[in-house]
Amino acid sequence: KKVIFSGAQPSGKLTLGNYLGALKNWVALQDEYNCYYCIVDLHAITVPQEAKVLRKNTIDALAQYMACGLDPEKSTIFIQSHVSAHAELNWVLNAITYMGELNRMTQFKEKSKKNEANLNGALFTYPVLMAADILLYQTDLVPVGEDQKQHLELARNLAQRFNNRYSDTFKVPDPYIPKVGARIMSLQEPTKKMSKSDENVNGFIGLVEDADSIARKVKRAVTDSLGVVKYSDEQPGIKNLLTIYSKLSGKSVEEIESMYEGKGYGEFKQDTAEVIVEGLRPIREKYEDLLKNKDYLENIYAEGAEKAERVARKTLRKVYKKVGFVPRK
Ligand code: ATP
Ligand code: MG
Repeated sequence: KKVIFSGAQPSGKLTLGNYLGALKNWVALQDEYNCYYCIVDLHAITVPQEAKVLRKNTIDALAQYMACGLDPEKSTIFIQSHVSAHAELNWVLNAITYMGELNRMTQFKEKSKKNEANLNGALFTYPVLMAADILLYQTDLVPVGEDQKQHLELARNLAQRFNNRYSDTFKVPDPYIPKVGARIMSLQEPTKKMSKSDENVNGFIGLVEDADSIARKVKRAVTDSLGVVKYSDEQPGIKNLLTIYSKLSGKSVEEIESMYEGKGYGEFKQDTAEVIVEGLRPIREKYEDLLKNKDYLENIYAEGAEKAERVARKTLRKVYKKVGFVPRK
């Protein structure tokens, strides 16, 4: 079986963007592939986190992964900090990464603008850790949203560079990006992607958010003054809502456009909110059930870490040998 690796940061609450861009695909790929799905807590501390909140968000993310349909019988589900090989390979890969490469990363540029007071080295080398995550498992495919394309390109370059410099060690991974929904936009600034770490909570919709709050946010979503429900670049707000509506209802964009011909945004938004609430309802219900059983969740991540560790160690041992580290014995 081919190998899949992906993850999300417990840097907040998972959003509709995370779901439509990534998680939905993760679930669909489980039967056909050998999948590793990680909660990347090491990545989360590249921006300030409160310990208590990070811990809660990590467990919540696990429950949400499973509520979406990730199945520990099929996939390896684990927490990144439990498998120390991630941090170790990160270091080795840092040694073959050029500053210039990292300087070109748009996520770093965007996130450092928001965190000028706390610009740290880890935020700069974030993509190297991400490469380590992926390469440890000899990954073939990485299902991510469009925003991660550039990071994945770096992971490919690092794999090839290491293979050339030493000898064949890493599989060179390919991105797997959905055709629709790869970039869900902020409800408040529809030219920017929806992000769970957005300080404006009206910009994103949480995967397990309550119905009233979802309705309120959709109602407030920024649109335009054209007044036609049409999928067009001139109407980024409406375009985004159409994408969400379509992905969650299974109806095509054209179908939805014709449903709202001659109707106002009010009705369209109200229905969009309902489609979101109904689409996410089973996830929220399952999530709430799962949270009642902390022991069960603990078992899942403990077993996941053990399975992941074995595979990751094997790759790391090879890497350490090739770079010239003396084996402890
Ligand atoms: P943060 O703001 O902390 O970076 P995030 O919402 O960007 O959080 P990540 O944990 O960085 O979430 O990303 C998890 C996965 O979700 C990645 O595969 C990423 O490409 C995908 N993703 C994130 N935002 C979107 C979005 N707006 N549309 C589609 N996919 C997205
Ligand atoms: Mg992100």
